[in-house]
Amino acid sequence: MTDLKSLLPEELEPVMEELGQPRYRAGQVFKWLHSGARSFDEMSDLPKALREELKRRFTLYVPQVLSRQVSKKDGTIKYLWGLHDGNSVESVVMRYEHGNTVCISSQVGCRMGCRFCASTIGGLVRNLAPSEMIDQVLFSQIDSGLKISNIVLMGIGEPLDNYDNVMKFLKLVSHPKGLGIGMRHISLSTCGLIEKVDKLAQDKLQLTLSVSLHAPDDETRSAIMPVNKAVGVDKLLEACSDYFKKTGRRISFEYAMIRGVNDTRAHAELLADKLAGTHSHVNLILLNNVEESPFKPSTPQALEAFVAILRRRGINVTVRRRLGGDIDASCGQLRRKAAR
Ligand code: SAH
Repeated sequence: MTDLKSLLPEELEPVMEELGQPRYRAGQVFKWLHSGARSFDEMSDLPKALREELKRRFTLYVPQVLSRQVSKKDGTIKYLWGLHDGNSVESVVMRYEHGNTVCISSQVGCRMGCRFCASTIGGLVRNLAPSEMIDQVLFSQIDSGLKISNIVLMGIGEPLDNYDNVMKFLKLVSHPKGLGIGMRHISLSTCGLIEKVDKLAQDKLQLTLSVSLHAPDDETRSAIMPVNKAVGVDKLLEACSDYFKKTGRRISFEYAMIRGVNDTRAHAELLADKLAGTHSHVNLILLNNVEESPFKPSTPQALEAFVAILRRRGINVTVRRRLGGDIDASCGQLRRKAAR
């Protein structure tokens, strides 16, 4: 059955025409769907007969709030959404000075296998539809009452492993008749699927690309990120520098500090060697503890030393503030708990 909320206004037009309706109905329906209508009955500017016809032909899914955790420290809200087929995914609303940001999931589970990440433990269940990504933004905004101005695709799943649906989502969410959140307010994080990074570069979108690097050498990276075995750090960095050349957009490298694994001085020096002269930015974050994983966050001393080396070497670096530390805020943890 056609998923109306995954269609752009111009794709809704033939649907309306088939129902014997004028084309402009497409814009009306799009607006309702992307402002969070929970049923066709709510679409009060459509003729009653059309609403009845839509009800007969289509189903309008709305995710259920299975759980909502609010951080007492910083107001971060973590949602667990129940989807129409019984699966669940997470989103997190973070309140930054530059605006409220929602971190959304792109898949149910993940098949990338990063060893420190809770989202990948049960493997990939399925891709999310464009509408299911829209719903996370839409209903986070509605439920929290907070206007969302930024989106990060950093929740459960590997967005570039669900490329077409994610691209469609980006078109829908930035559409002026819908949520209207522009590409410059959107970040996408990938573990580094090179061919897809190349494809993204060709699409020349103005979004911010984050690459989960987590190690400067193949031995360390392959040990914690199986995806590295196929390509390697140097090829990945090459693809990133190509991306910059094509889009003019600076890349942000994510680096989770894992005690005794990727956090030594030697790692910092090598990272600086490899990033020297590139137009990039390093975002360090202390590893979040994941119950099922043997890895621990680095000590504050190791973090400090790592930052000092990168700064001395002229690398752009920030340490990401940890939000929602009291509410299972690292990816996939809430869904794991619900599954147990
Ligand atoms: N699949 C994408 C996006 C989802 S993960 C990617 O790999 O980038 C979002 C970020 O959280 C990634 O940088 C990921 O490596 C990181 N991450 C996963 N588990 C983590 C943990 N336990 N502690 C800190 N960061 C983690």
